[in-house]
Amino acid sequence: MYDCRTCGACCKGLLVTLEIVGDEVVPPWMTRDDRFFGPVMRERNGRCIALSGEIGKQVRCRIYENRPQVCKDFAPGCSYCEDARKRHLFGAQMVPTCP
Ligand code: SF4
Ligand code: SF4
Repeated sequence: MYDCRTCGACCKGLLVTLEIVGDEVVPPWMTRDDRFFGPVMRERNGRCIALSGEIGKQVRCRIYENRPQVCKDFAPGCSYCEDARKRHLFGAQMVPTCP
């Protein structure tokens, strides 16, 4: 399967919602309130503010241990992963599809 550390495609262009439950701890300055979805991760240049490095080469989630549940649940190889890779690694113009 893919090595997420050399990818990071799904950390760009997707809204990362936050569940304020359990032990999820994200620094408040990395979050914002979305009008429709409530607390979400802030973005910078279209990518999650917690992502460092270069997409498609070497990346790191700066809050990996405390990343949002939606990130923990995101499975490499799922249809959303494949779509993100096509869009951000291979430049395909496509709309994310339902699983
Ligand atoms: S798009 Fe897929 S392979 Fe790339 S970082 Fe996300 S889960 Fe990992
Ligand atoms: S919190 Fe981490 S894993 Fe989740 S989108 Fe941001 S950089 Fe990626």
